[in-house]
Amino acid sequence: MANTCSICGNKIKALEPTFRTSDGKIDQQCALKAGIKGGAGIDYCHFHTVQDIRDIIESGSPITDIKAELKKEKEQQKAKANQEKAEQKKRAKHVKAKQKEITNEARSKQKKMLNEAKVKQKETTEKKLAIIQDQFKAAGVSNLFGTKKEVVALPGILADNEVVKYATSGTVNGNTVLMLCTDMRVLFIDKGLMYGIRFTEIPLDMVNSVNYQKGLILGSISIVNGAVITQINSVTKETAPIMADAIKKARNEFIKPQQTVTQATPQKSTADELREFKSLMDDGILTQEEFTLKKKQLLGL
Ligand SMILES: [Zn+2]
Repeated sequence: MANTCSICGNKIKALEPTFRTSDGKIDQQCALKAGIKGGAGIDYCHFHTVQDIRDIIESGSPITDIKAELKKEKEQQKAKANQEKAEQKKRAKHVKAKQKEITNEARSKQKKMLNEAKVKQKETTEKKLAIIQDQFKAAGVSNLFGTKKEVVALPGILADNEVVKYATSGTVNGNTVLMLCTDMRVLFIDKGLMYGIRFTEIPLDMVNSVNYQKGLILGSISIVNGAVITQINSVTKETAPIMADAIKKARNEFIKPQQTVTQATPQKSTADELREFKSLMDDGILTQEEFTLKKKQLLGL
């Protein structure tokens, strides 16, 4: 690109000073017309466009103190930059505040939903526990000694449609357990201090036999399930036979084959019917013709 002045278009000679503006070069002649001399003038040009210099020339009042002018320009630019920075900061702050607002809103919404779900679950659990306690009452459950925690945990263990047939407290291997017979299984529940809930179950159809022994105060129950014998001790002597009986009854109920609802009426054979009609004829109730007609019908002739 040719080295020409952006204002007058003259060629800038090799040894002539060149004034570089932010968007073009101007020669010394045009710079002087605007009052711009070397030194501070060169710096001044960096801050301005060709159009800025042209405006100064056209205004007819060239710059008289280029150093002061440069200082003023620098300060103005600095002030402008600071203002922009402040505005940017303000905008950023606003965006941040807005984001925080959105986040907080989302968080509180989530918290609310979580709380609602918790309340609902608590309600469901309480409802289920009330149903279980009603079933206890109906079954005449009398001894739940030391198994309060286990009872409270039942809504999380029993199926929604599972019905408690009997319950009692006892010990298995020295640990206090809640023993439960439902319409599906026999359960031993132990809620320890260090670990969570532990339970073992024997499905009713796996129970081979149930026995109980009675002592003076306490009794025990043993359940045979395949090769395994589960022994429950420290059961009160009153509840031991009731539990054993409840398990037997529940098992029989559980494994009872499905009975057909309609009772099949005994089917009479064609021969039996023919004999009946024959005796009616013999007794003179039917004529020979009537008997023959019936006989043809029955034999499909
Ligand atoms: Zn020029």
